[in-house]
Amino acid sequence: AVVVVGSCMTDLVSLTPRLPKTGETIHGHKFFIGFGGKGANQCVQAARLGARASMVCKVGKGSFGNDYIENLKQNGISTEFAYQTAEAATGTASIIVNKEGQNSIVIVAGANLLLNTEDLRKAAHAIRRAKVMICQLEIPPATSLEALTMAHSSGVKTLFNPAPATADLDPRFYALSDVFCCNESETEILTGLAVSSPADAGTAALVLLERGCQVVIITLGAEGCVMLSKTEPVPKYIPTEKVKAVDTTGAGDSFVGALAFYLAYYPNLSLEEMLKRSNFIAAVSVQTAGTQSSYPYRKDLPLDLF
Ligand code: ADP
Repeated sequence: AVVVVGSCMTDLVSLTPRLPKTGETIHGHKFFIGFGGKGANQCVQAARLGARASMVCKVGKGSFGNDYIENLKQNGISTEFAYQTAEAATGTASIIVNKEGQNSIVIVAGANLLLNTEDLRKAAHAIRRAKVMICQLEIPPATSLEALTMAHSSGVKTLFNPAPATADLDPRFYALSDVFCCNESETEILTGLAVSSPADAGTAALVLLERGCQVVIITLGAEGCVMLSKTEPVPKYIPTEKVKAVDTTGAGDSFVGALAFYLAYYPNLSLEEMLKRSNFIAAVSVQTAGTQSSYPYRKDLPLDLF
């Protein structure tokens, strides 16, 4: 099984002609509510590929929280450890998108910040029995660290996505990551190196690998990704499909969720092959609008991915 210890956010999206200025009120032409949060996004993608998936998370008691838990269930995800609290509201991302597709976003993490180590203790047997556990940084770092420690000490493969990244990431995260997967901007924040090509990514991946992870993967948007591992410390570039991107929001989470699926269910594939397939799945997700709503299901994908 795949266990995700991470965030749930309700996306409140307004489409407008342009972004409002300070103090200004403008009219948008469309509003919708979506399900987001890096943790849940990754869990949904893994589940849609066929993973038995569990979400360890915290949402509020109100309708956003109820709807979020229902969304997880709809995706076949176990919600045994999806806690509801009266102490904070469900995390929200208020997003304004202009007609050029540029956005302004306000995140209020809310209940996500109350996910604590006591919650992890209740989920300990599920975490310790998983094949793969994924964590990100939209919950308290201490909770992510404890989840990684728990998984690591039980021989569960850990997939860590340091997002959103901070320059002063606790060094213990590296040693606890079997697979450390980040995008270009996260890599720049973590290493201070500019990343604009597969070659740059290879150089930065070496820096990250030296901090103690077993495998580093840097995603490069339309370029695909670069991998580097302790056992084969020469960066390898894995290009992706040329597709017409409609909406790349959440592409990285689709990629991470797919990778977790392969690590858990196809452990005998080479890492390169897993990344080719994860690239393919994430490339499908960018071809339709929305975040989770753009993530493909197993039944809609070519048979040779499974
Ligand atoms: P994030 O969403 O975190 O910014 P990236 O932009 O690096 O992450 O995208 C993650 C993965 O999604 C890439 O490695 C690639 O597989 C896929 N992807 C993203 N954008 C495109 C694109 N325009 N065309 C094809 N694949 C894409």
